[in-house]
Order: sequence, then C-alpha cells, then structure tokens
Amino acid sequence: MDVMWAKRIADLPPYLFAEIDAKKNEMRAKGMEIIDLGVGDPDIPTPDFIIEALKRAVDDSRNHRYPSYEGMPAYREAVAAWYKERFDVSLNPASEAVALIGSKEGIAHTPLAFLDPGDIGLYTDPGYPVYPTSISFAGGIPYAVPLLKENGFLPDLDSIPEDIKRKAKIFFVNYPNNPTTAVADADFYKKLVELGQKYDILICHDAAYTEIAYDGYEPFSFLQFDGAKEVGIEFHSLSKTFNMTGWRIGFAVGNAKAVGGLGKIKTNIDSGAFQAVQAAGIEALKNYKLGLEDRKKIFEQRRDIFCKGLDEAGLKYTKPKATFYIWFEVPEGLTSKEFSTRLLTETGIVVTPGTGFGKYGEGYARISTTISTDKIIYAVERLKEARF
Ligand SMILES: *Cc1c(COP(=O)(O)O)cnc(C)c1O
Repeated sequence: MDVMWAKRIADLPPYLFAEIDAKKNEMRAKGMEIIDLGVGDPDIPTPDFIIEALKRAVDDSRNHRYPSYEGMPAYREAVAAWYKERFDVSLNPASEAVALIGSKEGIAHTPLAFLDPGDIGLYTDPGYPVYPTSISFAGGIPYAVPLLKENGFLPDLDSIPEDIKRKAKIFFVNYPNNPTTAVADADFYKKLVELGQKYDILICHDAAYTEIAYDGYEPFSFLQFDGAKEVGIEFHSLSKTFNMTGWRIGFAVGNAKAVGGLGKIKTNIDSGAFQAVQAAGIEALKNYKLGLEDRKKIFEQRRDIFCKGLDEAGLKYTKPKATFYIWFEVPEGLTSKEFSTRLLTETGIVVTPGTGFGKYGEGYARISTTISTDKIIYAVERLKEARF
C-alpha cells in the first residue's frame, strides 16, 4: 500500500529548523564551532528543591497509577494559591484550573474545543507556531493579526476587519511575547476584554513568560482585568519559570466553561500528567520565589552582554523587559533568512529567522540567551567581526 498523509499534515509549512539544521551539520562537518542561539530551552538546571520533591513522589507507589484527568486537587489548589499570591486573582481550583502536560499541549488542544470547521481563529504573527497549526488541525481558518514595531508589537485590535471579528471564535495572544519580547500594558488588556465581550471571542492568553522579567518589571496576568474571566482562559507553564522544559507540566486557568471544554478534549486524548511531576510542580509553585531572582539575574546579565554587542555591531533592537529572547532587526538589504544563513556560514552562530514565526517576522531575527554566559560572550565577539 501507499501510505498517504492527511491534508492537515501534508499542507504543514516546512519545519522551521530543518534547513538550519542541515546547514549547521554542514558547517560542523567543515570544522566550524557552532553556537546555537536558536532554541529557547534553558541551560540552567531545575532547582534542587523541585528535583528532591520529584524523587520523594516517585517513591510513592500511589503516584504510579493513572492520574486524574484534570490534575490532582492539590496541584490545582497550588495553582489557585499561586494566582492569588502573584496576581491577586481568585480561582476555583475545582472548576477554573486544569493541569496540562506542558502548556503547548493545552494550547494545541484548545481549538478542538472551541472551533467548528470553517470558524476563524485569530492569532498574533510573529508568534508561537502552534497557534495557527492547531487552528488548522481543528478545521478552523487561522487569521494572522500582525505585531508591528510601530505599535510596540501589540496587535492593533481596531484594524481587524469587522467580518473577521464576527466569524472569529478564539484569539491567541501572548505577553510577555515570544519572539518580539514585547510586554502588554493594562490599557491593552482592557481593550482585549472588550473585544472578547463584544464579539464572543474566547481570549486565549499564553502567559508562559510572566515570571521572566527584568529591571523590577512585573508582567500582568490577563485575568487581573475586570471581565477577563468571562471571556478568557490563560495558559501557564512551569517550563520557563523553573527551567523545567523537559518535565512537561503546565496549567490552564480562567473561565470555567472554557477550562471545562479543554478538559473534555483532554479526557478523550491523554490521561493526565504524571502525579510525581505534579507533586514537584506543587513544591515549585509553593516556593516560587526560591532562587527566582538569581535565575533571572543570569538571563539579565546575558541580555545586557548581547544587547551591547548588537549596539557595537550597529544592529537595531528594543531592550527586552521580559523573556529570555532578543528580537533584533537584520541589516538592511537582507531578508531574515539570508541574514541567518549568512551569519551561520560566516560565524557559526545560529539565530532563528523572524519568518520562522510568521510572515510579519520578516526583517527580524531572534536569539535566545539560554546557553552559557561564556558562549554568549564568544558569540558577541564573532557577531561584531561579521560583515554584512
Ligand atoms: C515555551 C513556550 C510555551 C510552551 O511551553 P511548555 O513547555 O509546553 O509549557 C508556550 N508558549 C510560548 C510562547 C512559549 O515560548
């Protein structure tokens, strides 16, 4: 037989890193040292107190069985307590919180719960590629709302055409933003709530980076704003806050019907997150401040080193207030892809071309400061020597 792919995967855009990976291997084979600033995956280990909590929980055979689909009550209570302490947002842990096997899992399953075939799903571009893909997988029509420099990389909500807003059922929004590093102010969130109310659009706020912020800045939760819980759901992850990307644990909170809808999809697809990992997650959330400032200091120092390098190389950027990325403008006359390829070929530095995050990423590149500070220093030296 001839195995045929379904259209939904046959039509997928080519894997962003495939070409870069090929080039990387080619340069490595030629003996060049590669410095990979492409992937946002912290090099710093998970804090010890979380690892210890996992070890204790692994020894408890009660955790070896199927977990409850929606997450252990104690985990959801820890989530609610953290939201209260961190954002002063009250949540009912039984109905307004669900455990996720990483927030990517929850984001990817969300359109299945809220879109019928042909419905529009809004998302911001450049952005996390899972948004448009998951909208398409559910039979929805992805509609990109651009993030432009002149708007501080916030979507201009008034610019979304009326007929699109009427047909849209969900809107993926993400602040602090990956890849642009932009942060959103209260004014924006209030307008976002109004948009959801007026057009019955479920606001799906991806809040993966609220705890990675600098210079005393504290990002908002979408749920802090009046009316947000009527129109929204927020995705959170322990991955970035606690350097736990490999553990696969996160959660979604907010509107009970939205959380319940996502839960319904999940009960039919997965069987929940390993309870020992949830137990470790409880410890993480209960002691979330432990070591956080020190971890942020490392990213902050790397940010400053790289930004200084960009200054010296004459490349334009806005200094990030949050996230561990830097989003900068590629030299004039080059596309994002040309720049990334040339940088890799000439210096061995891997960056992600802005277009890997959508067409409105053209003209930009993203680096992640999730490799050792020494390597960042070395990368900056090479970057300054490169000629474009
Ligand atoms: C890293 C990331 C996530 C997902 O993280 P998980 O490890 O799946 O919890 C979600 N959204 C954005 C924007 C991210 O950068």
